[in-house]
Amino acid sequence: MGDMKTFPKGIHVSHRKEATEALPIVRAALPKRVILPLQQSLGAPAEAVVNPGDVVAEGQKIADSTKFISVPLHAPIAGKIARIEKHPNATGVSVPSIVIEALEDPPAASSRPQRLSWRDLDSDQIRKAVREAGIVGLGGATFPAHVKLSPPSEKRIEAVIINGCECEPYLTIDHRLMLERPADLLAGAGAIAKAVSAPRLIVGIEDNKPDALQAVSAEAGRMGLKEIEIVPLKTKYPQGGEKMLIKAILGREVPSGGLPMDVGVVVHNVGTAVAVQEAVELGKPLIERVLTVTGSGVREPKNLLVRIGTSFAEVIGQCGGLTEDAAKVIMGGPMTGTAVSSLEIPVVKATSSILVLNRKDCAVFAEGSCIRCGRCIKACPVGLMPSTMAAFARIKNWDRVAEYHVTDCIECGCCTYVCPARIFLVQHFKIAKRELQLRKAVKP
Ligand code: SF4
Ligand code: SF4
Repeated sequence: MGDMKTFPKGIHVSHRKEATEALPIVRAALPKRVILPLQQSLGAPAEAVVNPGDVVAEGQKIADSTKFISVPLHAPIAGKIARIEKHPNATGVSVPSIVIEALEDPPAASSRPQRLSWRDLDSDQIRKAVREAGIVGLGGATFPAHVKLSPPSEKRIEAVIINGCECEPYLTIDHRLMLERPADLLAGAGAIAKAVSAPRLIVGIEDNKPDALQAVSAEAGRMGLKEIEIVPLKTKYPQGGEKMLIKAILGREVPSGGLPMDVGVVVHNVGTAVAVQEAVELGKPLIERVLTVTGSGVREPKNLLVRIGTSFAEVIGQCGGLTEDAAKVIMGGPMTGTAVSSLEIPVVKATSSILVLNRKDCAVFAEGSCIRCGRCIKACPVGLMPSTMAAFARIKNWDRVAEYHVTDCIECGCCTYVCPARIFLVQHFKIAKRELQLRKAVKP
């Protein structure tokens, strides 16, 4: 295993996936009410194309945008538009949202077109289907998928990499999708490669998921996809970061401030590829997603297929509820997720997991002083100097933090994880990045 592909630095974390990795994905009960923030992707928020009182069918478009970096939104359930009002999202900010309430006698969903094969569609048709389905990167970054499928003409894409690493602890949805839906995953991957005319199609999977490696390889053989490369990668955090993945598989470095496209690569994760298959071959919009509900604070951990807009409370209720000592709820994984303060917030397109930790697992420590041990520098996969950046961030010297390339920080949390002084390094960098962005926004 000595020559297993990987990237420099990074850390080894406990995976904590045992509770759900062997559990097949199950469909959650349909919610009676859904709350849908209009902004569910990076870029511009969508605008409602329905009004309170309108009756909508499942899958009907309810919001859209004329901006390129934005995605439309569809009704996850049939029902009545109850309200369009501000509602708190995962970060606690109240954002404009559409509320749909289920009806006893819902209108029938408009019939979907006949099943197509991605092989029969051209690049434009694939891009259009992906855009119309409202697909965003389902790994949590929520970048509109059609934008990644539309590289400028001067950028030649040589490889599409499908990210099957799922290096974040606790999460098991991509692992389950690779085991349960390898054919859909590969069809979606094929569509993505076709859309950007990439000659190479690679699936990268960490070597702690040998069953997924086997399932995807076997399916590729069955489908006659001889050109697809399935690459095992060393299990290391954050192997699933786009830049780390490209370095590990192709040995290419995405330049500072650059995008994978700058080195001829497009990366999509496994869940996004499956959503692309559904959009392209079935005409199905993104109205549901798979999430892992797990952690020491939830009674029956599960991998659940949930309608977008379902409240966290309802999802947790379908997993046996909270334990008595449940103390902290996180949207996403423990390394990059966001702690939430209410269970009334809805599942959105970005929700890869609901992680609930008990008191023991989320002890809060006071921030200490830097002992200059250098561990954070040794761990940072981007090659940054976290200790120096944090020292400047703590005194709000944003110019100096910027000089140390904080904008290249991928917020992986490796530095925070290894710091013996328990300095909240990544939190400092998130604040610094926001300050720098705000400053850029107010500049004339
Ligand atoms: S500085 Fe940023 S990129 Fe480097 S380890 Fe810390 S969080 Fe990760
Ligand atoms: S790991 Fe923590 S204590 Fe060590 S140098 Fe980095 S910030 Fe300082």
